[in-house]
Amino acid sequence: MNRREWLKILGLSGAALATGCGDKSGGSTASSSTKKVRWRLASSFPRSLDTLFGSAEILADRVRAMTNGNFDIRVYPGGELAGSLEVLDSVQQGSVQVGHSASYYYIGKNPALAFECCVPFGMTARQQAAWLHQGGGLELSRKLFADFNVINFPAGNTGVQMGGWFKREINSLADMQGLKMRIPGMGGKVMDTLGVAVQTIAGGEIYTALERGAIDATEWVGPYDDEKLGFHKVARFYYYPGWWEPGPSLSFYVNQTAWDSLPKEYQEIFTAAAKEAELMTQARYDVQNPQALERLLAAGVQTRPFAQDILTKAHSNAVQMYEELAASDPEYRKIYTEWKKARDASFRWFGTAEAAYANFSFVK
Ligand code: CA
Repeated sequence: MNRREWLKILGLSGAALATGCGDKSGGSTASSSTKKVRWRLASSFPRSLDTLFGSAEILADRVRAMTNGNFDIRVYPGGELAGSLEVLDSVQQGSVQVGHSASYYYIGKNPALAFECCVPFGMTARQQAAWLHQGGGLELSRKLFADFNVINFPAGNTGVQMGGWFKREINSLADMQGLKMRIPGMGGKVMDTLGVAVQTIAGGEIYTALERGAIDATEWVGPYDDEKLGFHKVARFYYYPGWWEPGPSLSFYVNQTAWDSLPKEYQEIFTAAAKEAELMTQARYDVQNPQALERLLAAGVQTRPFAQDILTKAHSNAVQMYEELAASDPEYRKIYTEWKKARDASFRWFGTAEAAYANFSFVK
């Protein structure tokens, strides 16, 4: 079959090829848009957490570069335009066009939103990204965010977090009883069922609370971010894994009305830039964390795995929590059912070649 016959089968005429097969639908043509767009982005994160905050800077830089500066997104750290935990509200109200946050901050509005970020004993970064981008997860979560007049985009991942800093060794479930630990969100809810005295303390106050003994333990993120807050100077035992955050996927939220007003070309550019920010954020963590871990170990930090009875009990209590929510909330049940199917299949596959390779090669 020659080229002309193939083109005929594909429904492409010579004229369409000559004009570059341009998509003439929607609001744009093949020519570059020069529309000036000025947006403001409210992040949940401080500048000092350069990996997390940096994700929004990558987005803004790439969008600016790909539009010759015509689409300009100005990035503001947590607390400047919106409270760190109120970014979704600000985007919903339209006081900013874009937000940068973690969706489990908003489980008080709708507990199902957590599936777009992570839940205890959920998927790892790679599995979560696969589900969101190729497994239908993003479409499911967008139905939830539509209630907030928001369209959401994945914005990067920390990878499996660490379990946090403990002033004394925790050898079994019994040692968790009455332990005062700073841990927010769903992880805190599960810890509470284990007998932990759960505390919620803002990032800037954790070090002092740990130093003075107001708390016995705290979780944060992982070696690179934790090192900056200096927890290793006041708590020697560094536990893993952070089973409550096995692969938290951060998010960009765009106000739907602002999105609809963009030229189609800018929508495509924003979408591509968000994917670049997502990829680069994970890559930064995966380079910075190993180096930070080396430094922490050299400073005398002792790493410890959580005891099996802690993991087993936490897992069964977390599952019970999800089942109860699913039984009482049809919207939660819908996404939970789909998510669980994807997670179970992913665990079977990753539990085969990936896990065998990791167990042999990573653990010395
Ligand atoms: Ca954490």
